[in-house]
Amino acid sequence: MTRKERFDFVIGYFQTFKPEAETELDFENTYQLLVAVILSAQCTDKRVNMHTPALFHKYPNIDKLYDAQYDDLFDLIKSISFPGNKTRHLMGMAKKVKENFGGEIPMTVEELVQLPGVGRKTANVITSVVDNQPNMAVDTHVFRVSARLGLTLNAKNPLQTELQLIKYVPKELVPKFHHWLILHGRYTCIARKPKCAQCPLKPACKFYSKLTKKDKEALGIIPE
Ligand code: SF4
Repeated sequence: MTRKERFDFVIGYFQTFKPEAETELDFENTYQLLVAVILSAQCTDKRVNMHTPALFHKYPNIDKLYDAQYDDLFDLIKSISFPGNKTRHLMGMAKKVKENFGGEIPMTVEELVQLPGVGRKTANVITSVVDNQPNMAVDTHVFRVSARLGLTLNAKNPLQTELQLIKYVPKELVPKFHHWLILHGRYTCIARKPKCAQCPLKPACKFYSKLTKKDKEALGIIPE
């Protein structure tokens, strides 16, 4: 199978069976999405969603977050991973948005990455989800699943994965493609033991095509 055929298979499958893929973070506006994505670094969406309602109630917008006191904000997110760093990031983000961007969250990757706690992946998520820009956010799931399927070749880091993927994925599908691979990586192509036996992408998967009988037994695809 050529690389282009793999992409066609994967995109075809998801377009048919998962046409509505979207982020699992709960949010109602750009501000809430930005806060939730900053909080989701190395933390599950589920855990973030448990804590954002109280945070958004107390700090419903950039102005309120700008006025936040460290201890109060920390208290609301203390059971999310790296609460100290994330408290500083949120306060720094609100300050920068207020003082450098007139209180409006910017909507270009180049501007967003100037905000504390916002890297290229987060900026790509925000611009693709909010503004449908063709920016491919590459997290650990997208990185792993792309490599296993053979959609990327020898990508050494998320940027290389991003650049390879956007060469093949039609622009209008980039925002969805990111969610498709995240959900696939989260629930099927999981890191330690991919569920190949039940994976509908098997026919196009490079990793699967190279599995030996022994590998398949270890993954539970063939009973030992
Ligand atoms: S066949 Fe296995 S390795 Fe390939 S995408 Fe599916 S779960 Fe992942």
